[in-house]
Amino acid sequence: MGSLRQLLNRKEKQLPPILSFGGTFQDVEDLASKLRWKVDNYIGANQRLRIKLDALVFYYGGIIRCVVYSSEPSLIIYSKNKFEITLSEFHSHIRDNWTIIHEMAHYFLHYNSEGHKTEDPVRFWRYADDLDEYHCNRFAAGFTMPAEEFKQYWKRYQGNISSIAGHFEIPSAPVEVRSKYILKD
Ligand SMILES: [Zn+2]
Repeated sequence: MGSLRQLLNRKEKQLPPILSFGGTFQDVEDLASKLRWKVDNYIGANQRLRIKLDALVFYYGGIIRCVVYSSEPSLIIYSKNKFEITLSEFHSHIRDNWTIIHEMAHYFLHYNSEGHKTEDPVRFWRYADDLDEYHCNRFAAGFTMPAEEFKQYWKRYQGNISSIAGHFEIPSAPVEVRSKYILKD
């Protein structure tokens, strides 16, 4: 089992680089599962999801802050390797897990560090509704519910959404969404 220190000591090239995203949903899925595989290897596959997520955020130079007011941006990027994710004080730990990986997806997919030369931070907001949001949710699904494991647990829990959500430590809604496309093949 790897530790946080080991993760931090890895050269950056061993994790996917930050990119400005122009790919397909399958590309998003592939990137997310590759990242999950790496994190599992460094941190330990059996660790709680939140430990993996904290390590990931820390590795890329981010911090997580709790806010009372959900009208604050959910992600503020100051520069490459310097960003803040905000969690609402009123949300559950399960919901926080989903938020953290969703915001990391914005950082990986939608932040162009080369194109960002000004001192203005880039902000992403809660409750947005556009293609970027779908990308991030797909990324979050790919990271939190690896495809093969999802199929296995779908069978084991006979499609019981809340049991499966409990296993993956995320809210029920994304489990329901994932079941609609991943079980087709
Ligand atoms: Zn978003």
